[in-house]
Amino acid sequence: MATETPGQETQETLSNLLSETRRFEPPADLASAANVTADAYEEAAQDRLAFWERAAERLTWAERWNTTLEWKPPFSKWFVDGKLNVAYNCVDRHVEAGRGDKVAYHWEGEPEGDTRTITYADLQKEVAKAANALEELGVRKGDRVAVYMPMIPELPIALLACARIGAIHSVVFGGFSASALKSRIDDADAKIVITADGGYRRGAPSALKPTVDEAVADCPGVEHVLVVRRTGQDVPVNERDVWWHDLVERQPSEHEPVPHDAEDPLYILYTSGTTGKPKGILHTTGGYLTQVAWTHHAVFDLKPETDIYWCTADIGWVTGHSYIVYGPLANGATSVIYEGTPDTPHRGRFWEIVQKYQVTILYTAPTAIRTFMKWGDDIPAKYDMSSLRVLGSVGEPINPEAYVWYREHIGANRCPVVDTWWQTETGGIMISPLPGVTAAKPGAAMRPLPGVVADVVDDQGESVLNGGGGFLVVREPWPAMLRTIWGDDQRYIDTYWSRFEGMYFPGDGAKRDEDGDLWLLGRVDDVMLVSGHNISTTEVESALVSHPKVAEAAVVGATDPVTGQAIVSFVILRGGAEESEDIASELRAHVAKTLGPIAKPRQILVVPELPKTRSGKIMRRLLRDVAENRSLGDVTTLTDSSVMNLIAEKLPSAK
Ligand code: ATP
Ligand code: MG
Repeated sequence: MATETPGQETQETLSNLLSETRRFEPPADLASAANVTADAYEEAAQDRLAFWERAAERLTWAERWNTTLEWKPPFSKWFVDGKLNVAYNCVDRHVEAGRGDKVAYHWEGEPEGDTRTITYADLQKEVAKAANALEELGVRKGDRVAVYMPMIPELPIALLACARIGAIHSVVFGGFSASALKSRIDDADAKIVITADGGYRRGAPSALKPTVDEAVADCPGVEHVLVVRRTGQDVPVNERDVWWHDLVERQPSEHEPVPHDAEDPLYILYTSGTTGKPKGILHTTGGYLTQVAWTHHAVFDLKPETDIYWCTADIGWVTGHSYIVYGPLANGATSVIYEGTPDTPHRGRFWEIVQKYQVTILYTAPTAIRTFMKWGDDIPAKYDMSSLRVLGSVGEPINPEAYVWYREHIGANRCPVVDTWWQTETGGIMISPLPGVTAAKPGAAMRPLPGVVADVVDDQGESVLNGGGGFLVVREPWPAMLRTIWGDDQRYIDTYWSRFEGMYFPGDGAKRDEDGDLWLLGRVDDVMLVSGHNISTTEVESALVSHPKVAEAAVVGATDPVTGQAIVSFVILRGGAEESEDIASELRAHVAKTLGPIAKPRQILVVPELPKTRSGKIMRRLLRDVAENRSLGDVTTLTDSSVMNLIAEKLPSAK
């Protein structure tokens, strides 16, 4: 693969390090039939609220709103006095429109051949039964329901049942520990927990129920635990437990969807906890559904009649909430849901699924893409993926080389890649190319979507000029914004609205290039200060990944007596690349040539794995501990803590 090495001079600012000149124009056929054209930017710029009103009109409202936005900074209300039912919008209205036979979900279990096809008509019945069941258990509007489940159809059904009756769901990712689950149950004061006996993970059943038992042992507020039988493994049954198949199956398959207020809470979702104590992010009804439905329609150019859409995230993360459940269903899409891991039973599983269901739109994360690069190009090459037409990325900055690999080896150089920036707090996509409009740059999220007013500011809160770098901010409220942190308005104000007067601060760094396009640089805590220069970990990682032998890289700043901080890099080699004696010097030279000598790592270590959060993000904090010879900080959100031992073995000393 051709690599560009501009070899430019060392620059003072973070903003001028990376130079990327590749551009990918939208495919002509996609552009000419695109759901959204360049006019949308113009329309939204002229009247932002009218733009969001039109987006809201894509939904079915029981009562129209009176006021589009009530803004008492930093608290917003959208579509005030409007009433709607989210489950009705996601399910019933499609059935009423004669699309009941359309597939809502092609569900693919991890064990091969274990599949289910769920039409909108099926979903309507299942959601109605589950809603009746929750009511029988005494769940009422406003009650909190904790959900701790594998990726099975009952998971979206449970969420829609909660939405239907106005109960607030709080999904906790099924890989979290009992103590993590307990603290989230306590914080939200959940009345019931919905779970399963277990799920399939890496070819074997993995129990969930014992973790729930441990978590709720000391939660007197939890009245019932509703348990889906998925794996059939033996699990203890306690007094509070109710089997899904006993309770839900005998319910009537009709349920009246009462309209809820546009500002009634829809769900709480705790941020993944890459840093600090998790925050219970609160999302509400009308604005949230408006934005996730519109962005799903616009960013993926979704054509509900013909597209087969697959988002590979877990529903336990916000990506799954917004872009597996609410956005796609509100749009009447046909989606794929896959239960398991990409390497079970073989490393081509994802591509086999794409081929099997003729997936047209794929939405995944950089961590997955880099893993596929590591496994080798020959694996996706074995499958027919000619159905694909749009590819998406979310979760971390995507290194330009990973972007180009994704475009080439998955998208056959034909499919546009949309790099979507957003977070749990924003509820929906905020910054992204539009596939029929944008000439995309690999590694850049490009422009705020129509209706979103984002900016890059310096530490005084002044907008930076083109070519500058600094802090990403959002200047105006948006419909899917978090309304607060559950039970803690002050923490909401302090965390997001105190760094810059009157602006939302997501905690991420960004640069704006000479054309005015945005490049996200990850969280600001990850920026390094080397000999007085601010250097972003993302840029050094991207430079490393642009070397043909490197699949994945993590970079941290370690205290250094001479330079303040020195760059320490951990790299994973690509499939087929040999670990040679001089690989470290080869890579150091490559970074120096790509970014300039200032960015040259002091140390480069080849490692087999990197520490990641359960949502797949690199945990640089732990690598910093290793690089500085400290004992490790909190590892509870780590997927696999043995990774740290493997890495420590590679590191004779921090010097
Ligand atoms: P926590 O807030 O608990 O530490 P988290 O920030 O990882 O966890 P999420 O809300 O899932 O939890 O992730 C949002 C963050 O992910 C963003 O703030 C940003 O740092 C990063 N991110 C997401 N998408 C992109 C993207 N396309 N480009 C760059 N960074 C991204
Ligand atoms: Mg975050």
